[in-house]
Amino acid sequence: MTKNRIVILGGGFGGLFTALELAGSLDVTLVTDSDHFVFTPMLYEYFSGEVEAWHIGPRYDELLENNVKLVVAPAISVDVDSRTVTLENREPLNYDVLVLAVGGVTNYAGVPGAQEFSLPFRKIEHADTLRHVMVAALDRIPPETPPQDVRRELTFALVGAGASGCELSTKMADLLVDAFKRRALHGEPRVMLLEMGDKVVPGMGDEIRGLVEEALLESRVEVHTLTRVVSLTRDSVTFEHAGQQEQIHTAGVVWLGGVRMNPLVEHLDVEKNRRGLLVVKPTFQLSQHDNVFALGDIAFYPDAAPTLQGTAQLAYQQAGVVGHNVKALLEGKELRSRHFEELGEAISLGTERAAVLTGGKAFGGALARQARFALYTGRLPTWHHRLRVGASWFFGGTQPRPLLPLGFER
Ligand SMILES: Cc1cc2nc3c(=O)[nH]c(=O)nc-3n(C[C@H](O)[C@H](O)[C@H](O)COP(=O)(O)OP(=O)(O)OC[C@H]3O[C@@H](n4cnc5c(N)ncnc54)[C@H](O)[C@@H]3O)c2cc1C
Repeated sequence: MTKNRIVILGGGFGGLFTALELAGSLDVTLVTDSDHFVFTPMLYEYFSGEVEAWHIGPRYDELLENNVKLVVAPAISVDVDSRTVTLENREPLNYDVLVLAVGGVTNYAGVPGAQEFSLPFRKIEHADTLRHVMVAALDRIPPETPPQDVRRELTFALVGAGASGCELSTKMADLLVDAFKRRALHGEPRVMLLEMGDKVVPGMGDEIRGLVEEALLESRVEVHTLTRVVSLTRDSVTFEHAGQQEQIHTAGVVWLGGVRMNPLVEHLDVEKNRRGLLVVKPTFQLSQHDNVFALGDIAFYPDAAPTLQGTAQLAYQQAGVVGHNVKALLEGKELRSRHFEELGEAISLGTERAAVLTGGKAFGGALARQARFALYTGRLPTWHHRLRVGASWFFGGTQPRPLLPLGFER
């Protein structure tokens, strides 16, 4: 008897954890456009050198062993009628059950120059590029440069003061201050956080926001709220605040201004909500296609705390239910649904501290940083990987890696 073919598109929190749920007894193929997973909540620590690439970006073939077939190729389109997935430079794949988990893509919101000149921050290679840009900017400054010129040449802007903007800006600022001391540069670097709304981390509660604001102040990040980015060039950002426009010379701009729908999903002719998210039943099946499941950033699942939409913690929790439901569908058993609540918040703030919200209580500082590492060790995929990473952090430490001159960076 031929086994049912299960194809999972996307190897992020939704797709990888669904594959791990299903691995072993079923014919499962994971299709993804990269050979490694990214534990995005710790991409900031990778950027600052507190953790290594293999800790947060393990290769799929190590995680899945031989229990899941792996296809590393971008999926170009899905035909839900003929049950076919078209891949770039590969034979198409046929499926009996499809799991869609391709996640979102950076949203440049049509701002002129944004896509061309800003740096995205979603992948290991993006973190490497940002580090490289910062080191190259530092390397261009001769030692006796006057403070005002140093500040101009070492101005970095981040667009969007959600958790990502606050986490990354504090890390960048701390690394730059350390580099100033090591290189005996005069003055200070300038790290600007530009936010259209009226507060930082708008999706979070006041208690944790207080800790984030304290950290931004301590790391000397310049926060500009009610500020809209108008355009970018190769070396400048123009923004508008209270009707006034200002153009600032920049050494780099990082775009953290939001997520938009994956083009693969945009082209799918199935039911979506006003924001373009796939409408799923409480069992995660598409409304007109019982053999197609969707989860994570691309799916609208109503029975979840509203702050969870677009988070790893939601996709990760959903994967357990989707894995169960795929098996149940194939075995003719009853499918499940579930309500999802917040598991808490953990934000990395600079290279020395963090803020954690758990059980309704928020705490910050170096202890919160340790708690965050402990918490995330438990959320990494597979026991084997968790043990290796946990041991590496425990015995090897988690110190940041300074921004050394280019020839010394590794
Ligand atoms: C820097 C950063 C930090 C974050 N920090 C946190 C945090 O601290 N806490 C939190 O809860 N959430 C966090 N998030 C959000 C979280 O990463 C997402 O909500 C979560 O990853 C969504 O899971 P997903 O499976 O839907 O998509 P993803 O995890 O994005 O996975 C999608 C996968 O599909 C692949 N893919 C995309 N298109 C194709 C294609 N056409 N063909 C094949 N493969 C494709 C992608 O490469 C990726 O591997 C963060 C996000 C970023 C970018």
